[in-house]
Amino acid sequence: MNTIETINKDWDFVIGIEVHVQLETKSKMFSTCEYTYDKDPNTLTCPTSLGLPGALPSINEKAIDFAIQFGSAVNANIHSSFSFARKHYFYPDLPKGYQISQFDKPIVTGGVVPIWWNDKQYDIELTRAHLEEDAGKSTHHLSSNSSQVDFNRSGAPLIEIVTEPVLTHPIQAKIFIQRIKQIVNYIMISNAEMEQGKLRCDANISIKKKGVKKFGTKTEIKNINSFRNVQKAIESEIKRQHQLLEDGQEVKQASLTWNNEKNTAEIMRVKENANDYRYFPDPDLPPVTIENSKIKSIREILPTLPFEFENKWIDKYNFKPEEAITLASTRHIASYFEEILNYDVSAKNAYKWITGELFRLFNEVNIPFDHNKVLAKDLAKIISLSDSEKITTNSAKEVLRKLFTSNDSLKTVMNDGDYLDNKSNNVEDIIDKVLKENPGEVIRFQKGEEKLLSYFIGKVMKESKGKINHKIITQELSKKLRNS
Ligand code: ADP
Ligand code: MG
Repeated sequence: MNTIETINKDWDFVIGIEVHVQLETKSKMFSTCEYTYDKDPNTLTCPTSLGLPGALPSINEKAIDFAIQFGSAVNANIHSSFSFARKHYFYPDLPKGYQISQFDKPIVTGGVVPIWWNDKQYDIELTRAHLEEDAGKSTHHLSSNSSQVDFNRSGAPLIEIVTEPVLTHPIQAKIFIQRIKQIVNYIMISNAEMEQGKLRCDANISIKKKGVKKFGTKTEIKNINSFRNVQKAIESEIKRQHQLLEDGQEVKQASLTWNNEKNTAEIMRVKENANDYRYFPDPDLPPVTIENSKIKSIREILPTLPFEFENKWIDKYNFKPEEAITLASTRHIASYFEEILNYDVSAKNAYKWITGELFRLFNEVNIPFDHNKVLAKDLAKIISLSDSEKITTNSAKEVLRKLFTSNDSLKTVMNDGDYLDNKSNNVEDIIDKVLKENPGEVIRFQKGEEKLLSYFIGKVMKESKGKINHKIITQELSKKLRNS
């Protein structure tokens, strides 16, 4: 079987992604009942979300605000007039027989999502982002040949983000989806956890011979449920299409599902076109008009976005892309980094300490970054003590660890550990003790075996529990050894 990279030598990949993100509003898209993940089945329902006859929808304003926030974040056009349409299809978890979505007048069109791939930045163009309602959740039990439907999710608010067919590699597609998650996390409209189904995506794929302009026939893989599977599913579909075309057959337009166990995408049905859905304006929901001032005020409260931080830091501090990417990975880390720079710590140094020692501590206990664990001003203080050699690097790391694991203040930790006071650790006494305990080595050193110096340094370091500066130890040791 050809690998993706060998296929890519002669073939271009064309990928377009549709991402569904569940919006974290208190109530559903068109009703007042709530949706929370992980509640007992069918406990979060109401006549509207069950599609009972006569139940009418009303629009969740917060969901509109969230869509505007997303549109602003990706620099898209936000339309002050938009409307909702019915998208018809039949499935047991869709009780009305149609989903309320947006068709020809979505709230957001255009926009770009900057991503990094192999140290280069790519602007991924969006077609649109529209609001819609989620369906319920069906669970199929093969053993008993039965299915169950949970309507909790029915009517939950979604924003569907659609890209132009501009992605060119399965890894790039994965990175794009991770970026969407990061952006919606930054603007706090969704936790976008894939395991909770709060971010789901479909991948559209076609391939064409290099140099050919016209796109090939695309297929669509539905409901891919992890970042890793996005890449795997697209790779498997590229290989399938490549094989067909190499064999002189054609790719048929189709919807596929990703089979996790078999590691392949399986054809589900020959794909519908938009007109199969019989879209029409929802007569229960008149077109919506919003004030431009509303859009403006939402734009104004938008936080700095990950790509803005990255570009700024690369420019201002000469960071490598991967360094900037790491620090911008979450909004908490980014703002922690920015905060620490207010305390006269160099950017490179802050990067080193945050992504080195501090990340290590979080990883050890496997919790997400939390700026309250070690206050930025305390880490800044530790870094500057270490830089000015008032405490050793070892001590600095130990102080940081103690701050992280206890509730003590920096002052308490410093006092309890005697880190600052080199004299009370008494270098001279420790050196005398070490030399006295190693008379043989002292004689050998004095006969010219100078490399024993590091042996003594090691002993003194150990004796002082790493609290004495290396330079001071070396200085004092050399003095003593030459004079004794
Ligand atoms: P559909 O009507 O099947 O939903 P759309 O034209 O709305 O198709 O596009 C859906 C997604 O498919 C978009 O992300 C778009 O970028 C992508 N797409 C369109 N044409 C192609 C193609 N030839 N190859 C790969 N992706 C494509
Ligand atoms: Mg589609």
